[in-house]
Amino acid sequence: MTESRWAWAEIDLSAITHNVTVLKGLTAPGTLFMAVVKADGYGHGAVEVARAALKAGADRLGVATVDEAVELRSAGISAPIQVLSEPPVATVATLLDHTITPTLYTKEFAGALGRAAALRGVDAPYHLKVDTGMNRIGVAHADAALFAAMLAEFPGLRLEGTFTHFATADVPGDWDAARQLKRFRSVIEAMRTEKIDPGIVHAANSPATILMPESHLSMVRCGIALYGLHPAPSTYSVIDLKPAMSVRARTTLVKRIGMGEGVSYGLTWHAGASALIATLPLGYADGVHRTLSNSMQVLVGGARASQVGRVCMDQFMVEVPRGVDVQRGTVFTLVGTDSGERIPMDEQAEKAGTINYELACSFGMRLPRVYTR
Ligand SMILES: *Cc1c(COP(=O)(O)O)cnc(C)c1O
Repeated sequence: MTESRWAWAEIDLSAITHNVTVLKGLTAPGTLFMAVVKADGYGHGAVEVARAALKAGADRLGVATVDEAVELRSAGISAPIQVLSEPPVATVATLLDHTITPTLYTKEFAGALGRAAALRGVDAPYHLKVDTGMNRIGVAHADAALFAAMLAEFPGLRLEGTFTHFATADVPGDWDAARQLKRFRSVIEAMRTEKIDPGIVHAANSPATILMPESHLSMVRCGIALYGLHPAPSTYSVIDLKPAMSVRARTTLVKRIGMGEGVSYGLTWHAGASALIATLPLGYADGVHRTLSNSMQVLVGGARASQVGRVCMDQFMVEVPRGVDVQRGTVFTLVGTDSGERIPMDEQAEKAGTINYELACSFGMRLPRVYTR
């Protein structure tokens, strides 16, 4: 609980430790493990999660932006950090100042990074991104070996790794994912034929780490599974993950309303009989999607309670179930366990019309975080 605010996200760092351990257990000895902590650790707090993951045996960290990498460096984290897409040319000095490894796939960025590094008398490490079929970022697989050969001639650059990313790794036995892996292997072979060392060769995100052992190569990159959330229904039977995030709040006001009274903006819900209404101090600016209005449930006293009326920016209301004792200050659980009853992130995400990835990130927007070990 936090003193200044009666709503918070609880982050169980022992779950992060557990998840790193079981995920690493799926890989062959010597396989590197990247903990992906972009988007403030999927809403869990990047610095705390990074520290816990590294302590549990992660080798490297992955982020989305240079600012995220700088935040980790400023917190005193010295492990290798990779920015997972090519950052703007304007960041090259920052990358070199903070020893941050960029992803690279354009000549323009290669030239800028190489020149800046050469002026400092150093070789900047980079990872080459190969697009094998997702068609988001990277050098097209057909051009990749030639591009790598060209980069080998640039001063100030050192190829530390070569990687790709799957579009459909969450579908077991998927033909598209198999084709992406095949294309990636061909690129790696062509580079070796050209006497270019591809360095750390990596492709697997969480679903591929769990479902496609043949894609592990020299390193796996785990995000969602690190947080104990499953990337797809297909992974539940394969691995025992522990969810790290719970979301809770204390009710700020409890009141009885008469039959026919409406609740919240638009009065979209009306009491069919006299009802006890509890107000919780969090809303869509805290990640409780407004699409959850009149559809989500929360836990109180080990029982499920229905959310009623529209979710507001900073608050929403719940009808207190009969027989549950609720006072001002009683704890409600939006995600997590209460006296043996559980509401998983997946349940709320599905009701909100999204995936656990997005909902976890959303809860990172404004809620204070409380860490347990
Ligand atoms: C976000 C990201 C990951 C992690 O994906 P999960 O499905 O969360 O494990 C891995 N690799 C890249 C390139 C990413 O952008």
